Amino acid sequence: MQDPFTGPGPDAQFAAQLREGRFEIQRCDDCARHVFMPRVLCPHCGGARLSWTTPSGRGAVYSCTTVRRKADSGGDYNVSIIALDEGPQLMSRVEGIAADAVRIGMRVCAQIVGGEGAAVLVFRPEETGGADGA
Ligand SMILES: [Zn+2]
Repeated sequence: MQDPFTGPGPDAQFAAQLREGRFEIQRCDDCARHVFMPRVLCPHCGGARLSWTTPSGRGAVYSCTTVRRKADSGGDYNVSIIALDEGPQLMSRVEGIAADAVRIGMRVCAQIVGGEGAAVLVFRPEETGGADGA
């Protein structure tokens, strides 16, 4: 097993995975709960055996705030806390809809934007599969 106290820290590993287009979170081998932010010890049971795993990428908006910004600076954006289906919550933003249209409870899915060097994890509203009819 990999020694968590040597080599790149979990934050650096997470960032490197994002740059490679992979969104991974940790899962504790001892208590089987998912962990985010990346860390060395499980916050639930204190175990040191955290393995990287690929989450579904799906979750729901837990809380959201619209940050007002001038249009020539890029316009409004939102800061949201997303509750992943696996359990952990993370701070991100929802793209693809108006910043003030983000609603608590809205289903979202993860997407990596920015690519090489500046990869950022954002969320988009989940496709509802044509609930409005086709
Ligand atoms: Zn644990």
